[in-house]
Amino acid sequence: MVDPGGGAICNGTLHNQSDHCHRKNCTRNGMVKEAQDFVPLYQSFENFYTRNLYMRIRDNWNRPICSAPGPLFDVMERVSDDYNWTFRFTGRIIKDVINMGSYNFLGLAAKYDESMKTVKDVLETYGLGVGSTRHEMGTLDKHKELEDLVAEFLNVEAAMVFGMGFATNSMNIPALVGKGCLILSDELNHASLVLGARLSGATIRIFKHNNMQSLEKLLRDAVIYGQPRTRRAWKKILILVEGIYSMEGSIARLSQIVALKKKYKAYLYVDEAHSIGSVGPTGRGVMEYFAMDPRDIDVFMGTFTKSFGASGGYIAGRKDLVDYLRAHSHSAAYATSMSPPVAEQVIRAMKFIMGLDGTTQGLQRVQQLAENTRYFRQRLSEMGFIIYGNEESPVVPLLLYMPAKVAAFARHLLKRKIGVVVVGFPATPLAEARARFCVSAAHTREMLDAVLEALDEMGDLLHVKYSQNRKSARPELYDETSFELED
Ligand code: PMP
Repeated sequence: MVDPGGGAICNGTLHNQSDHCHRKNCTRNGMVKEAQDFVPLYQSFENFYTRNLYMRIRDNWNRPICSAPGPLFDVMERVSDDYNWTFRFTGRIIKDVINMGSYNFLGLAAKYDESMKTVKDVLETYGLGVGSTRHEMGTLDKHKELEDLVAEFLNVEAAMVFGMGFATNSMNIPALVGKGCLILSDELNHASLVLGARLSGATIRIFKHNNMQSLEKLLRDAVIYGQPRTRRAWKKILILVEGIYSMEGSIARLSQIVALKKKYKAYLYVDEAHSIGSVGPTGRGVMEYFAMDPRDIDVFMGTFTKSFGASGGYIAGRKDLVDYLRAHSHSAAYATSMSPPVAEQVIRAMKFIMGLDGTTQGLQRVQQLAENTRYFRQRLSEMGFIIYGNEESPVVPLLLYMPAKVAAFARHLLKRKIGVVVVGFPATPLAEARARFCVSAAHTREMLDAVLEALDEMGDLLHVKYSQNRKSARPELYDETSFELED
C-alpha cells in the first residue's frame, strides 16, 4: 500500500502507537520523508494529520444511519478492534437517537405518511426515471408545474429546476460568466460554487467572509484597474454569496451586498441552499428576511435537499435569465432531468409552506423552526458556549476548538442517544473544530431540552464553555450596522 505522503505504509500488520517500523520509507513513525527528487503530491502536514489525528477520532464521522433523517433516527452500532483502521458492525441498532445533524429544517424529510400521497400517485403514474435530458424528451408537465410554483414562491418572473443542487451551481455559473469576467466569491462559499467558478474560466477573487470592506475593496479595484495587463474593463462582475453559511451559521449581509453591487454595477448570485424555507417570516429565505425587493438579486439559487426534504436545485430570477439558461446550461443539455416523484415532493412541500394545501400548518412549521432556533441558541449562550452565526440561523456551530475534545464530545453524546455532526480540519481551520447543530421544526421542546441538558454536562466535563453570556464570539460579523458605504 502506498500512502499519500510518498512513503510506503507497511501492508498487513498494523502498527499501534508504540510500534516502530524499520521498513525503508515507512512514514508511520511520525517522521515524514518528503520525496527528494520531485515536488510531493500532498502536503506532508495533511498526511501527518490524517494518520496521527484523524485516524484516532474518525469513528465520529461517517456513522451509518439506517432510518429516515427525521428528528429521531436509528444508528448502526460499529466498533473498531484496531484503533479505527477498520470497523466492524455489531448488528445492534441504536434506536431513536435525537438527530441534531440533518438539514431537515422543516421536518419534511420524514418517511412515507399519508401527507405524501400525491408523491405515491405520481410514482404510480410517471414512474421514477425520466431517461432523457430537458432538451430532449425529459421535460414533463411536473417540471413545468414545479418551476411555476418556485417562481411564485420567490415572487420572481421565472425559475428552472435541476436534478442536483451541487450541479445547479457547478453547471450554471459557467453558463453565466467566462474568460474576461470577474467573480468575487466569499471565502467560505460551498464547494459547488467554488467548482462552478473555476469551471467558468473567469478570474476569481476572494473576499473575507461576510466582510463588506473586503468586498468593496475588490469591487473598487476591479472597476479602477480592470483586467490584468490589458487594463480592459471586466466584461461582467459577479458576486457569489450564500444565504446562510453551513459551517458558520452566518446570514449574508444582503442589504449591504446589494448596495455595493448597485454602486459598482456588478451582478449578484445568492445560493439559498440553507436559507430557503428556513428563514424569513414565511420561509422565503434571505430576501424576505431582509424585506428586500426580489429584483435586487440577479440570480436566485437554492436546493430542495434541506427544507423541502427532496433533492435537486433551482435557478430563479428574470425570465430572460432563465430562458438563457434553458438553452445554455450544461445541466439542461447533458443531464437527465429531475425524477417526477421528487418534483412532486417539492411541489407538495412548497404548497404546504405557502398554505396552498388549505392549511396553515406549513407556516406554523416555519414559525416553530424560528422559535426552536431562538430557544436553542439562547440556552447555549446562557450556558457559556461560544456559538457562531446569526440568532435566527437554524445552523448552530458550537466551538470546541481542540480535535481531541471533538471526539470526546461526539462519543459521549451518542452514548446519551444524541447524534451530532462534528467538523474539523480541513473543513474548518485546524484550531477551530466545532459541532454543527441543525435545528428542526420537528424537534419537540423535550428533545431540545434533553440535548441541552447533555450539552450542559458535556460543557463542564470537557471545559468547553469558553464564553460567559456573550451572544456571539464575533458580533462584528452579524451586526448589520457596522458598515457604511464610502461615497
Ligand atoms: N450549495 C450549498 C450552500 C450547500 O450547502 C450545498 C449542499 N449542502 C449545495 C449547494 C449542494 O446541494 P445538494 O446537496 O442539494 O446537491
